[in-house]
Amino acid sequence: MNFDLAWFQSRYDKEGPGGTGSDYINCPLNKEEYDAFIAAVLAGDKTDFKEWETNTPYFEGCLPIEVMASRGVETLRFGPMKPVGLDDPRTGRWPYAVVQLRQDNKLGTLYNIVGFQTKLKYAEQVRIFRMIPGLENAEFARLGGLHRNTFLNSPRVLDSQLRLKADPRLRFAGQVTGVEGYVESTAIGLLAGRFLAAESLGSRLSRRRSRPHSVRC
Ligand SMILES: Cc1cc2nc3c(=O)[nH]c(=O)nc-3n(C[C@H](O)[C@H](O)[C@H](O)COP(=O)(O)OP(=O)(O)OC[C@H]3O[C@@H](n4cnc5c(N)ncnc54)[C@H](O)[C@@H]3O)c2cc1C
Repeated sequence: MNFDLAWFQSRYDKEGPGGTGSDYINCPLNKEEYDAFIAAVLAGDKTDFKEWETNTPYFEGCLPIEVMASRGVETLRFGPMKPVGLDDPRTGRWPYAVVQLRQDNKLGTLYNIVGFQTKLKYAEQVRIFRMIPGLENAEFARLGGLHRNTFLNSPRVLDSQLRLKADPRLRFAGQVTGVEGYVESTAIGLLAGRFLAAESLGSRLSRRRSRPHSVRC
């Protein structure tokens, strides 16, 4: 990392969960650097989809950078590269665009680039990401890729206790039911376990109604 250009700061100095207010490394881009970066991302060599995945839609909340760039030059600057709340110590102002990195291991030797999903080929990632000011000499420990989730059409094939309608001895939990994420997958696992425990005990999980809050004005 070239800290002549990059600096540590969280957006608006906000302390996120477990954060200190300066949890990100910020690499600033001026307009020329940003335009050149977008052009390189658009022109860069991408990996091809396999025939069986060409019709798989992207998850809009987590788009590859080249897909965002293809929607408009400004899209990344209003997405993962937005500069708001980040004061470049060299100018005291928000830069034109920013690439943020967050610490990835306890030792502080690995950082990931925030929001940079990509289908660019590996050699292209190294070449293009080194165009980012501050990352000219970065070493890349792991390069980006896309993953595809396959899941059940749960409302159709599962009952209200996560059992397979076609064979109720089978229960499903986690991401394969159609949720995504650590918390969501764990929550569905907990539910499946509780459904199973209740069934084994010959009872049903009761749905507890939450009491309406009284509001004092
Ligand atoms: C690159 C990447 C980054 C992610 N980042 C985040 C993130 O930042 N935050 C977040 O919340 N979520 C993130 N996720 C999503 C999150 O990892 C998953 O939603 C979650 O781990 C799913 O948990 P799970 O237990 O349902 O499934 P999994 O963790 O996939 O567990 C399924 C297990 O079943 C095993 N298995 C499969 N087939 C068989 C078989 N036939 N016999 C025995 N075992 C089998 C597998 O080996 C695996 O261990 C990310 C996912 C990926 C791929």
